Amino acid sequence: MLQDLRVSVTDRCNFRCLYCLPETEEAANFYQNRFGQPPASAARITRQWQHHDRILTFEEIERVVTLAAGLGIEKVRLTGGEPLLRQQLEKLVEKIARIPGIRDLALTSNGFFFPRKATALRDAGLRRVSFSLDSLDSANFKKITGRDGLELVLESIDLARELGLQPVKVNAVMIRGINDHEIESLAEFALRKNLVFRFIEFMPLDSGRAWHRELVVPGREILQRLQARYALQPVAGRHASETAQRWALPGGQAEIGIIAPVSEPFCGHCNRLRLTADGKIRACLFSMAEHDLRGLLRAGAADEAIRDFLREVVWQKEARHHIGEAEFVQPARTMSCIGG
Ligand code: SAM
Ligand code: SF4
Repeated sequence: MLQDLRVSVTDRCNFRCLYCLPETEEAANFYQNRFGQPPASAARITRQWQHHDRILTFEEIERVVTLAAGLGIEKVRLTGGEPLLRQQLEKLVEKIARIPGIRDLALTSNGFFFPRKATALRDAGLRRVSFSLDSLDSANFKKITGRDGLELVLESIDLARELGLQPVKVNAVMIRGINDHEIESLAEFALRKNLVFRFIEFMPLDSGRAWHRELVVPGREILQRLQARYALQPVAGRHASETAQRWALPGGQAEIGIIAPVSEPFCGHCNRLRLTADGKIRACLFSMAEHDLRGLLRAGAADEAIRDFLREVVWQKEARHHIGEAEFVQPARTMSCIGG
């Protein structure tokens, strides 16, 4: 049963994370020095943002979520690209928050624009927020994201807590030679701030096809390093569908999560469906197939036809991904387009 819908509201972003949109000079230098080759996107940027006409309107998204709620979807997460680049996002939040059956409405953001939007989003019905924070060192933060934004993200984390958007989750993608020396300090930060902190393996979904297996810091290694420092207590997953292995840090409410889709795939219990900003449905991040819902919506399809379409996509959901196997092919769409 699929319960979790991730809705990408834009493919645009104001950051250029070197694991997602590796298009900065720093990213080019890093990959060039390491592998003798820059990311494809640095050599020739072929990616273009989607034209506005192709992006689903708030009314179209509201309709899809309403129909999906009728099929068992209970949790919605708004993502992107950077979702806070979408004008008046609080209006979409308000629409989704009042859909019967949706009991959890969350946002994933890089945090840069959150201080400007936070109160309006909370007042519109946003329940929770996750931020990306890959480094606590401002120079390293800039190297990873292409922006001088560490202070703003730290401010966003505190603000989300003050506004009661709890628990505040923070995601860090760990990359060998970039931020793996910060594993312990990031965990210490989680402990100090009472956060749910997720360490994520680098997945082959960047726009420059720059991913290399040797850049992946395996979840097991992260766990061993943290266990050497803290008495971690396993947290029983509330849902079988949990993608993170969860561990409580001693003392407070802080929690560590390890998301290891590359070294320890969890496909068998993934219950997510993804709606891209241009209205395609994907049953898996690594799907080679996309299902064109926008065409159906704009052709005037009846509710029942859309429900049938969603049921069919779920039925065809891939059993698992194939990273690490000879036949693995990186999907044409990148994380910034699909919505992480
Ligand atoms: N811009 C927002 C942000 O960064 O939080 C939301 C979209 S971003 C695509 C969602 C999540 O995907 C982030 O936590 C990011 O770290 C993660 N992500 C992006 N590219 C990734 C990759 N190649 N491997 C693993 N995680 C990735
Ligand atoms: Fe933008 Fe998020 Fe991708 Fe970073 S991870 S480039 S913030 S979409």
